[in-house]
Amino acid sequence: MHSYIPPARFFAYLTWAEISAIPDKANTLIIQPIGAVEQHGPHLPLIVDSVIATAVVGKALSELAHTVPAYALPTLCYGKSNEHKSFPGTVTLSAQTLMSVLTEMAEGIYQAGFRKLVFVNAHGGQPQVLEIVARDLRERFSDLAVFPLSVWGAPHCAAEVVGAQEYLQGIHAGDVETSVLLSLLPDQVKMSKALREFPPSFAAGSLLSLEGQLPTAWTMNDLSQSGVVGDATVATAEKGERILASLTAGWVRIFEEIYLFRGLNPVAEH
Ligand SMILES: [Zn+2]
Repeated sequence: MHSYIPPARFFAYLTWAEISAIPDKANTLIIQPIGAVEQHGPHLPLIVDSVIATAVVGKALSELAHTVPAYALPTLCYGKSNEHKSFPGTVTLSAQTLMSVLTEMAEGIYQAGFRKLVFVNAHGGQPQVLEIVARDLRERFSDLAVFPLSVWGAPHCAAEVVGAQEYLQGIHAGDVETSVLLSLLPDQVKMSKALREFPPSFAAGSLLSLEGQLPTAWTMNDLSQSGVVGDATVATAEKGERILASLTAGWVRIFEEIYLFRGLNPVAEH
């Protein structure tokens, strides 16, 4: 069941008695990997985002110093993927359901005595939901630190590896995700079906954009016929390995920093 997570760091392998005996629960990281079950073009499996979230967390936990207490929960494989709903196989939770699942999970973690909760999300359609959940938890539990983080928020070399343009435009099932999957699950990638497709864009000079400061609320039908946004044809396992290695190093640093985090202490000056 632990997949890429080292067994000794897999929360669900612990017994209640072991959890009860954890010495520094307040500073022990409880990490929730979050993915999706959604279309990723004709060449990648539905489970891509869940694989990436689990693998990055697992690899970082394998390299993390044993002096940093941290456990990963079982990956939440379902997410809010309604922008991909018209492609068969996509399974989506509503924002409300996802918020309830994460909130009730957090209540159990809090009740067990833990005070540092980290979301590591690999699906671009739900950071907003996770931020709302995190803020609401923080407001309810003033001694709980919650970090609503994205896998791709860590420092990494993907833009160098695939080129700046593909990195910015290839937002779904393109070179980055296909290369990472070739490195992690090569038997589940059908490179003979890989293709390249880029979305229509706003007119030159427009202030509006698909994402960013002045975005539009697109669904995948607005962007792509194939479900791919980017160039999957040039993906290689070697690129995926370089991207994963840089992400792993980034996540080791983030977990160390969260372990040392002791809260924000505002100081007014007079
Ligand atoms: Zn994805």
